[in-house]
Amino acid sequence: MFDVIVAGGGPTGLMLASELRLHGVHALVLEKESEPTEFVRALGLHVRSIEVMDQRGLLGRFLAHGQQYPVGGFFAGIDKPSPDRLDTAHPYVLGIPQTITDRLLAERATELGAEIRRGCELVGLSQDDHGVTVELADGTQLRSRYLVGCDGGRSTVRKLLGVGFPGEPTRVETLLGEMEVTAPPEKLAAVVAEVRKTHKRFGIAPLGEGVYRVVVPAEGMAEDRTVPPTIEEFRQQLRVFAGTDFGVHSPRWLSRFGDATRQAERYRVDRVLLAGDAAHIHPPVGGRGLNLGIQDAFNLGWKLAAEINGWAPEGLLDSYHTERHPVAADVLENTRAQMQLLSPEPGPQAVRRLVSELMDFENVNRYLIERITAIGVSYDFGAGHELLGRRMRDIGLKRGHLYELLHDGRGLLLDRTGRLSVTGWADRIDHVVDGSDELDVPAVLLRPDGHVAWAGEDQADLLSQLPRWFGAAAS
Ligand SMILES: Cc1cc2nc3c(=O)[nH]c(=O)nc-3n(C[C@H](O)[C@H](O)[C@H](O)COP(=O)(O)OP(=O)(O)OC[C@H]3O[C@@H](n4cnc5c(N)ncnc54)[C@H](O)[C@@H]3O)c2cc1C
Repeated sequence: MFDVIVAGGGPTGLMLASELRLHGVHALVLEKESEPTEFVRALGLHVRSIEVMDQRGLLGRFLAHGQQYPVGGFFAGIDKPSPDRLDTAHPYVLGIPQTITDRLLAERATELGAEIRRGCELVGLSQDDHGVTVELADGTQLRSRYLVGCDGGRSTVRKLLGVGFPGEPTRVETLLGEMEVTAPPEKLAAVVAEVRKTHKRFGIAPLGEGVYRVVVPAEGMAEDRTVPPTIEEFRQQLRVFAGTDFGVHSPRWLSRFGDATRQAERYRVDRVLLAGDAAHIHPPVGGRGLNLGIQDAFNLGWKLAAEINGWAPEGLLDSYHTERHPVAADVLENTRAQMQLLSPEPGPQAVRRLVSELMDFENVNRYLIERITAIGVSYDFGAGHELLGRRMRDIGLKRGHLYELLHDGRGLLLDRTGRLSVTGWADRIDHVVDGSDELDVPAVLLRPDGHVAWAGEDQADLLSQLPRWFGAAAS
């Protein structure tokens, strides 16, 4: 009997497994592929995911493999400078191939004691009052208290649950691959720049050592998108859009992706939950999907662990859906808007020029970047201090940095007053008294995911909020 079985060893499942292990939860990750993929989908981490890595002491590993870029220019690829004074200690995009992100997250999960079983495909599930029975393709049956489907956009778990996945089907398809070219780099860059003036879904970028990442609209729609395209399809479409195929040859890998936009109606059915692409899919414009999945896992991990460890207050696990469903719905909406702005049609192009002009207003640019980077996310915890429900940025303390205090995934009372107390919850919450000049409230209570659960200075008020997130005091 496992505490939690995680179906899918992509970034969402691996992040979740690590979060569960921080709380001693016995977690098993089932991954159907026997080897990691070499196909690179996501190219980077946005600010909130960078903060998440920092909160868990993992950022150094990611910085060692990534390159920092300005955050400007991510909304529909409209080229604008980064807004000044973003509310974060990490105002950059970290360019890092998803294959490396996946590897780093797998290493971390394993270090923390999660078991990752490759070549194990979940094909069946049933649940009762006490747990979930999972069936694998080879007939093996496994049992756990909870199951989380992190098994991607075509999620078997979601389908077996019968959870609706409403939205729009794929209407346009794009070819993506890594390959070599014979065209000289200067000529290639000039042609690409010219084509991109009209066709925003077209691009060729150097990856080093003569290899290029090629993105070009497909001719139509493949009957089965899991079947990779041929290099000849790339040549043909490059000629259609650029008038030349740049002499592409020697592909490393070739793939295609669609623009379907869908969201699961429910993220939880009793003992089975959904996270990441299993819960929401959208086209990759803006680079949000992997980030959203990591942040789903960050929201869910401590809540599920609290349930397993027996201190979760009523409704805590359901707050995963209540908090994360609207966030993904907003991402889908934002992505739909961006896709319109990528269209070469005159109407959307005119709207794109207008949006571009509006983005010259600092506040508009900032608003859009806060959405893309997810630092603007605010959960609805009810009325109260303006920080309530928002994640807190890293700040300097007299004794170091705030995020250093969050590595273990526990709650935190950061207290300038020295008069407050969380006695009774000391097994779940750290209490740190620090006279930081950068904390502009007397005290804040942070959940394990860094979101502000309470701000103020009154002990009775604090006591009224502690059980909502951290359950009953220990006797
Ligand atoms: C071309 C492209 C570019 C992208 N660029 C970006 C970007 O720049 N930034 C960004 O944030 N996102 C980007 N994305 C999106 C990102 O790749 C996904 O959102 C992300 O991989 C989702 O992670 P996940 O763990 O939820 O799902 P996945 O990465 O799909 O992982 C699911 C895992 O589950 C496994 N699995 C499936 N079924 C089963 C089963 N029945 N049993 C066991 N295992 C199973 C799969 O093998 C897979 O390993 C891009 C996507 C595409 C297609």
